[in-house]
Amino acid sequence: MNQFKNTMDVFKLLKKNNCRKCNKPTCLSFAAAVFQGQIALEECPFIDRDILNQYGFKKPVYESTFEQEYKKVMTGLKDRVNRVDLESRAQKIGGRYSNGRLVLKIFGKDFGIDQNGSIFTDIHVNQWIAPPVLNYILSSDGVPLTGVWVPFRELETSKDWARFFEHQCVNAFKQVADTTPSFFRDIIELFNGKQVGNHYEADIALIIHPLPLLPMLICYNHPEGGLESDLNLFFDKTADKNLPVENIYTLSTGLSNMFRKLARTHG
Ligand code: SF4
Repeated sequence: MNQFKNTMDVFKLLKKNNCRKCNKPTCLSFAAAVFQGQIALEECPFIDRDILNQYGFKKPVYESTFEQEYKKVMTGLKDRVNRVDLESRAQKIGGRYSNGRLVLKIFGKDFGIDQNGSIFTDIHVNQWIAPPVLNYILSSDGVPLTGVWVPFRELETSKDWARFFEHQCVNAFKQVADTTPSFFRDIIELFNGKQVGNHYEADIALIIHPLPLLPMLICYNHPEGGLESDLNLFFDKTADKNLPVENIYTLSTGLSNMFRKLARTHG
């Protein structure tokens, strides 16, 4: 039985017409749900029986694959962290070293990482945050911030991800901002967001810090005079020197999913 290695493996098999017959808003979100074991591949009526025979019909196959893959990735990252000098990495990547742990400020909160790659913090560590944090320790070049903000698509290595980023992150942020009055207050209170001025003449501009050398600027304009609202996300132009672009994508997508959940509970 074949197994999917990532969301794109599933996505390549789909018709890509976003018809919603699977009850997902897009083929990409369906592909992500299949890979994460939340839905069976056969829920898309356009998948050939031959393909279903190759990959299996039922979702538990994919569920265990996703979990296994996640554990494998984390084990590999932890092994590599184990061989790193955390004290010198802390100086390079905007953290500090204390009691055998490299401490990073993530959304304003302390995350301590020990030599085994275990993460210690007061809040729940989601699956979308742990791999980027370890990858940041392992691969950040420690390039200082320039203060020059660019959209994701203008990062040097973003080419393969830009279209998905626009859909999965920017549109998701915008949808929540349009429909949830507490959106910007939540960002300030829960994610330590700081309001800033003079950015692209936005009505609201906020900066958050998913990682010390990876700030994100969120600019929003209210609908006005018949024009739709507008939301844009920007990163420092050094972003993909300090975190691989696929991790920037993972972090941003995880964040947008969290905002969606908050919107459902806070309204
Ligand atoms: S039913 Fe298939 S083609 Fe239609 S949106 Fe879902 S995954 Fe895409």
